[in-house]
Amino acid sequence: MRFTSTRAQADIESAHAITQGISADGGLFVPKAFPVLTDDLIDRLCDMDYQGRAFEILRLYLTDFTDQEIRDSVAAAYTGKFENEQPAPLHPLRDGVFMLELWHGPTCAFKDMALQLLPQLLTRSAKKVADGKTMVILVATSGDTGKAALDGFADVPDTDIIVFYPQDGVSPMQKLQMTTQAGNNVAVCAIKGNFDDAQTGVKRIFADPAMHKLLDEHNMEFSSANSINFGRLVPQIVYYVSAYCDLLKNGTLQKGEGFNIVVPTGNFGNILAGFYAKQMGIPIRRFVCASNQNNVLTDFIQTGVYNRKRAFYTTTSPSMDILISSNLERLLYHLYDGDTSAVSALMQQLAETGRYEISDSARQRLQKLFFGGFCNDDQTAATIRKLFNNDGYLCDTHTAVAAKVFEDYRAQTGDMTPAVIVSTASPYKFAKSVLMAIDDDAKPQTEFEMTDRLAAVTKTTVPAALSDLKSRPVLHTACCDKTQMAAFIQQSLGL
Ligand SMILES: *Cc1c(COP(=O)(O)O)cnc(C)c1O
Repeated sequence: MRFTSTRAQADIESAHAITQGISADGGLFVPKAFPVLTDDLIDRLCDMDYQGRAFEILRLYLTDFTDQEIRDSVAAAYTGKFENEQPAPLHPLRDGVFMLELWHGPTCAFKDMALQLLPQLLTRSAKKVADGKTMVILVATSGDTGKAALDGFADVPDTDIIVFYPQDGVSPMQKLQMTTQAGNNVAVCAIKGNFDDAQTGVKRIFADPAMHKLLDEHNMEFSSANSINFGRLVPQIVYYVSAYCDLLKNGTLQKGEGFNIVVPTGNFGNILAGFYAKQMGIPIRRFVCASNQNNVLTDFIQTGVYNRKRAFYTTTSPSMDILISSNLERLLYHLYDGDTSAVSALMQQLAETGRYEISDSARQRLQKLFFGGFCNDDQTAATIRKLFNNDGYLCDTHTAVAAKVFEDYRAQTGDMTPAVIVSTASPYKFAKSVLMAIDDDAKPQTEFEMTDRLAAVTKTTVPAALSDLKSRPVLHTACCDKTQMAAFIQQSLGL
């Protein structure tokens, strides 16, 4: 398996793609061709547990890894880290509709699915292609990535991890998760700005030759744990394949029958992994891309015009408060049949004017596969309430956005194909919004009073990983201007 950049032809193996994170030309690494799952392999996957399925999918992409390396990585990532040893259970909601719950990991959001595995893949990749260097992981987070990356990388030898988050753009629980993170190789800093400012700052530092030189002089090298890293994407393909196997096993689908997926989307990583699963032969018919009020993707799918010049909203689903969806670049590469100069031109327009428009044929291909919809915070809250009262299902704000857009999708299209709604966070991560949605008597209290009340009202339990935070000391209080991110990095690495 070889990888190229979305912006210029390249020819590298997975270990390079994973250590580098982003290509020197600013593009993202994509597989040159997709491995196809044979009928026979799918039969075998159906009889395996999640770790077995992960091993089989990963080895198709990471062909420069030995089977033993992949087996060890998968075991280290998923053994004892997830509730019930089943990282991605399908919860039946109603006839032919399932919630794919991806939040049973250590930080209670779907980012764990990839970020428990990425440190394993990254350190093994670094041994292959960057020998002896300490990998410095830079992360810009809208909330969930930061904690999941900190948890995954804390005290991993030969790595340092530095996380930037928007000062006012994450939930109190998300903030506490990050500021209490222990580990001798971790640093956390708030940014006076929004997520896009943090992400743009990190991208700029990645592209800065002077910073690279400085790190190189200290035997260090930057890498990324953001979903631009291919090492984040490949573990996410696994749960779509796994969900298909589970739908075959529970009789919802016969082999080859299609299903739809509904994904609450921000940076487009999760839904793109579903698109990759389809390229491998998983019969996903339509991709319902659900956004909150930051509906840049809805407009893009409906019109073919991507325009980031618009108001930025802080919503109750903060992990989707994004106007620059990085992974969309990978989809463009495929919609344009691997035409790297076309993708470069679009990305250049985006950087210069904040806008681009895809060709008619690319738009037609996009619309055939993707449906875009969005909802506001009131609709999100109403959906949480409705799912709880009618289906007995308690979900978080992001998952509720997906459920609402799915409802709109069915109403508009009449498409009753079985569907998997991707459930991306524990409701307890966003306890205030969830509580306010279902409990008429709720009043704003401290975060932990509200999680306790949510547990009492819904007769569910607070995940231990969150209730434990109560007794953890805050270790990280730094806050900097978005222009000072490089200085913070130098200071925390002692350069
Ligand atoms: C990150 C995140 C998303 C968005 O996922 P992308 O891969 O960025 O599209 C949705 N929900 C939650 C809870 C998240 O943490």
